[in-house]
Amino acid sequence: DRPPRLLRAFICPGEGEVDREEVDNDATQRTIRVMQWNILAQALGEGMDSFVNCPLEALNWAERKYLILEEILTYRPHILCLQEVDHYYDTFQPILASLGYRGNFCPKPWSPCLDVEGNNGPDGCALFYDEARLDLVDSVNVRLCALLTPTNQVAVVTTLRCRVTGRRLCVAVTHLKARSGWECLRSAQGSDLLRNLATLTQSPGGPIGVAPDTPLLVCGDFNAVPSEDVYQRFASSPLILDSAYKRLSRDGLSEPAYTTWKIRPTGECCTTLDYIWYSREAFSVDAVLDMPTEEQIGPNRLPSYSYPSDHLSLVCDFSFKKQQEE
Ligand code: NDP
Ligand code: CA
Repeated sequence: DRPPRLLRAFICPGEGEVDREEVDNDATQRTIRVMQWNILAQALGEGMDSFVNCPLEALNWAERKYLILEEILTYRPHILCLQEVDHYYDTFQPILASLGYRGNFCPKPWSPCLDVEGNNGPDGCALFYDEARLDLVDSVNVRLCALLTPTNQVAVVTTLRCRVTGRRLCVAVTHLKARSGWECLRSAQGSDLLRNLATLTQSPGGPIGVAPDTPLLVCGDFNAVPSEDVYQRFASSPLILDSAYKRLSRDGLSEPAYTTWKIRPTGECCTTLDYIWYSREAFSVDAVLDMPTEEQIGPNRLPSYSYPSDHLSLVCDFSFKKQQEE
């Protein structure tokens, strides 16, 4: 009883559904495809999460890892941003390396995975890029602070150069503090990340409070709904960012209804927590991968035999705006 996971369609803002494989022209060759995905740490899924409608066998790592890899390879992103990675060194780094990706990993200092018996080490954020398309300029691991105090949340910030256009871009991946009651901490962590990104993308001596020299992509499980302070901070940041998945909605202004959907003993949780932020002045959003419908997700929600994580992947095609090209 493994219902097929239906292929999701790419939607072009303002144009509707498109076959991105068919559009084989100069424009798509310049596209940079980005995937954001909280893949569900193996130790947390089996030992902490209590997904009441998901049989434990559906979480068996020996099979689940292939569902995760299959999804990544279905869309073949140039940039892959993952959270809750607790199999970096033994799985994702070697397998993705053999497929042409290079990566950086930042474990959480006190990963909750370490509390689970038989864990595979700490979970953390991983950022991979397709080496055929992008080359590395610099990568740093950041421990996010709140009120000048280091927290348990991290980010990987990688600066890359596009081999087609020669242009630089800075990509960040993060996973902010989970659960309700921690809204202030998430907000402080978001501010600290924005502050770090301003420093890393602004050339020394450059003006403060204007669009950064190096355009940005920020992917994350923010653990925050759009009404939360941390979302508003990103939306109104002097770095001039916008959230790509708003482009799926008819008015272009609303986030999707959910990026995670699960049933715990405390009840059903269907909410939007994951985002891809991009420099609005530097990039255009060429296509956004549609979300599965409620029917496709199924009555037992996520994860399941068909969907390996409780979070859905977000995939976007970006291109550099013409007037910005050197
Ligand atoms: P978070 O609160 O950010 O959550 C950790 C994980 O739990 C996330 O991946 C989150 O998933 C998941 N989660 C969210 N809600 C639930 C839920 N209702 N039930 C089960 N899982 C859920 O963790 P912290 O980074 O704050 O780490 C907490 C752990 O870290 C503690 O267990 C503690 O052991 C350890 N720690 C130890 C310290 C020490 O000094 N030894 C210091 C600090 C922490 P998602 O993002 O998908 O929602
Ligand atoms: Ca989780």
